[in-house]
Amino acid sequence: MGSTGSIGTQSLEVIDEMRSMRGENSGDYNVFALCANNNVELLENQVRKFKPEFCVVYDESSANDLRIKLKDTSTKILSGIDGINFIASHEKTDYVINALMGEIGLRPTLTAIRAEKSVGLANKETLVAAGDIVKAEAKKSGADILPIDSEHCAIWQCIQGENKQDTEKLILTASGGPFYGRKREDLQKVTVADALRHPTWKMGKKITVDSATMMNKGLELIEACHLFDVSPDNVDIIIHRESIIHSLVQFIDKSVKAQLSLPDMKLCIQYALTYNNSGGKREKSKCKELDLTELKNLSFAKPDDETFIFPELARFAIKEGGILPAVMNAANEIAVGLFLKEKIKFLDIFDSVKKTVADWEHKNIKNPNIDDIIESAEDVKRNFVSKYI
Ligand code: MG
Repeated sequence: MGSTGSIGTQSLEVIDEMRSMRGENSGDYNVFALCANNNVELLENQVRKFKPEFCVVYDESSANDLRIKLKDTSTKILSGIDGINFIASHEKTDYVINALMGEIGLRPTLTAIRAEKSVGLANKETLVAAGDIVKAEAKKSGADILPIDSEHCAIWQCIQGENKQDTEKLILTASGGPFYGRKREDLQKVTVADALRHPTWKMGKKITVDSATMMNKGLELIEACHLFDVSPDNVDIIIHRESIIHSLVQFIDKSVKAQLSLPDMKLCIQYALTYNNSGGKREKSKCKELDLTELKNLSFAKPDDETFIFPELARFAIKEGGILPAVMNAANEIAVGLFLKEKIKFLDIFDSVKKTVADWEHKNIKNPNIDDIIESAEDVKRNFVSKYI
């Protein structure tokens, strides 16, 4: 899901590479369905290459365009949320990679989990907005949630073979983004192009802006609390400009484990895909080898929480719980969209999201259901410009 985006296209590359490296076992990785919003050209290429049984195009008129383009193939084209839910719960689906962008990814994750599918989760909003509900559903059905994010993948690798109660704290690394070292006054005039210039990772636009504001790390903090069942007080964030150490885990004896590699999302995608396979957790990959002598230095620093307020705002939101993380996320989604369209300034992202969270703090709903979460997020989005900008 989200096959035409950054994680989606890389996931298909991983599947292609694994198939070519596995020889006779290559049949273990088949693409049963693809799903994207409206990128018909790329979807056509993907369908022709991977020959899925179904292809879901969220946008109905784009689905019609694709039907015409692909009428010489046997792939069935579906559309809308019904199409997404259909492939997420189909009996032939074993594994769902959810790389949809934004809150739209929440319901398909739940559908897949309820249908006992393993979910490789690249959609941050799923756990940020509804972590408690998603986790409870996964526990009920026994479905696995496997993170596709370099930080969580690193933590996950570090805790292999360890006892849960021996874990003392998680340390998330952050590159700091393109504006690391700047103060608030230095950020007044930054442009969209400036914000999209990430120093180490090549990613989609939304997440690249989230890296520039450090909201990405805030969302990852919330996700880490849900994925690894830790308190927000036991998650630290450190700046590590080189993006070589992807995160660390400290144990009760003060031993620290880290996971290192060159920054390449394909490694996390592959780990999440292969982890569940019986007989092994790793497969050979085409990722480049890390040469530490070439790197020479790895650097670390404390984050500047005064300028980049989002990691601490996220910590506050997850501590308060209820709908507050979903509200924060919805506000950020809208604010980043407005910034990308040059309707608001970079600093307005911080101010408007902070204002939204402060406003909703007083009308928080404890133990919300999924409708409470989605309705609150929609309320935020509907009234965002008039109330918080
Ligand atoms: Mg990440």
